Amino acid sequence: MKIVRSPGAMQRLAMEWRRSGRRVGFVPTMGFLHEGHVSLMHVARRRVGPNGIVVVSIYVNPTQFAPTEDLSRYPRDFARDRELCSEAGVDVIFAPLDGDMYAGREQGLYSTYVVEEQLGQGMEGASRPTHFRGVTTVVAKLFNVVLPDVAVFGAKDWQQAAVIRRMVKDLNFPLRMVVAPTRREKDGLAMSSRNTYLGPDERKQATVLIRSIRQVRSRVGAAGKGGLPAVDLKREVAGLVATAPAARLDYVEFFDPEALRPVEQVRKGGHMALAVFVGKTRLIDNGRI
Ligand code: AMP
Repeated sequence: MKIVRSPGAMQRLAMEWRRSGRRVGFVPTMGFLHEGHVSLMHVARRRVGPNGIVVVSIYVNPTQFAPTEDLSRYPRDFARDRELCSEAGVDVIFAPLDGDMYAGREQGLYSTYVVEEQLGQGMEGASRPTHFRGVTTVVAKLFNVVLPDVAVFGAKDWQQAAVIRRMVKDLNFPLRMVVAPTRREKDGLAMSSRNTYLGPDERKQATVLIRSIRQVRSRVGAAGKGGLPAVDLKREVAGLVATAPAARLDYVEFFDPEALRPVEQVRKGGHMALAVFVGKTRLIDNGRI
């Protein structure tokens, strides 16, 4: 397994692969890897085959964090990440330094961003106004550097995957997007690098996200064809979240899974997403209803 730091070196390598006809599967991450990330690496491998190349990027992208957010304390453990990638059969880790990825940014000499103007407006975009601009920008840059045939994302970040899918289509990136299912802990908590922030009691209360999704699913299932009004379900979710003393609901939304348009009536096959602060840690989850 190779570790590449410089974007220029990464791009030269990717161009060589392209010239020799090797397929490239790419998994962008911010590191502090867990089984969810590893499952994406396996999907990438299946897509490109044994002779293809699997690249994982590990980069905590500063432009997707607001100044008030957890950029400086975001968990990092490169030695462990490297081990997990190696076990998963990854060929190359691309782990650039800030100074190389956004050359000149500190001196005010970086001024190009990619903005998706529709799907990124609500939910995460409403709570974190500059977040998706950072995500689309870094993913576009990573695509230009790694030149993947296939890029694999997690359903855990449903809105992010939708925004990137739109960017790929709108900007004609020559690659295929794959979205892989969310991996969960035994009690249903979606795996996330940020789970490490939770104290033991917060960790228990954090299951309120998946419990909310399951409750809505069963209520909508029992309601039959007509479904249930989103306002009522929002009130119920708020009530359930309020039973966890460390939890504070940021948002819960019901929408159609592709266009992310909010729905007034929630039916089977619809989608929901929520963000909850558990203590100081902001967690997100989503699921099909
Ligand atoms: P992150 O390192 O949090 O930026 O995530 C990198 C990629 O891993 C994104 O495509 C995420 O959606 C995906 N991911 C994060 N958590 C999970 C999970 N529990 N299951 C599957 N994919 C995940």
